[in-house]
Amino acid sequence: MTASDCLFCRIVAGEIPATVVRETPTALAFRDINPQASTHVLVVPKSHHPDVVALAKAEPEALAEVFAVAGEVAEAEGIAEGGYRLLFNTGADAGQTVFHAHLHLLGGEWLGGLVG
Ligand code: C5P
Repeated sequence: MTASDCLFCRIVAGEIPATVVRETPTALAFRDINPQASTHVLVVPKSHHPDVVALAKAEPEALAEVFAVAGEVAEAEGIAEGGYRLLFNTGADAGQTVFHAHLHLLGGEWLGGLVG
């Protein structure tokens, strides 16, 4: 896959519109177009990696930055105190549909228990 085929590479490049809430030299945070919670923001590394494991292997600093940005967005959105969920869908069976690593930040309401 090249940057021109990848939806999130094109959002990073500004070729497809998105509601950006935070940007750093290595990461971009924007609102999910189909929100699954009151707050639903995606945080992506600017570089292309198909999933979080590939990102972790190739650029662990960028993965750390993605989590740091998620925490900053949670603070800015006023959901840090109440709590929020961070998740990476990894592979088709998990429901991953865009194969550019992206962290879902969900919050602003009771999300229910995911496990147990
Ligand atoms: O984890 P998964 O690959 O399913 O997540 C992709 C997410 O990207 C979806 O939640 C979808 O709503 C979002 N999306 C977006 N903007 C687009 C296309 C998809 O926020 N232009």
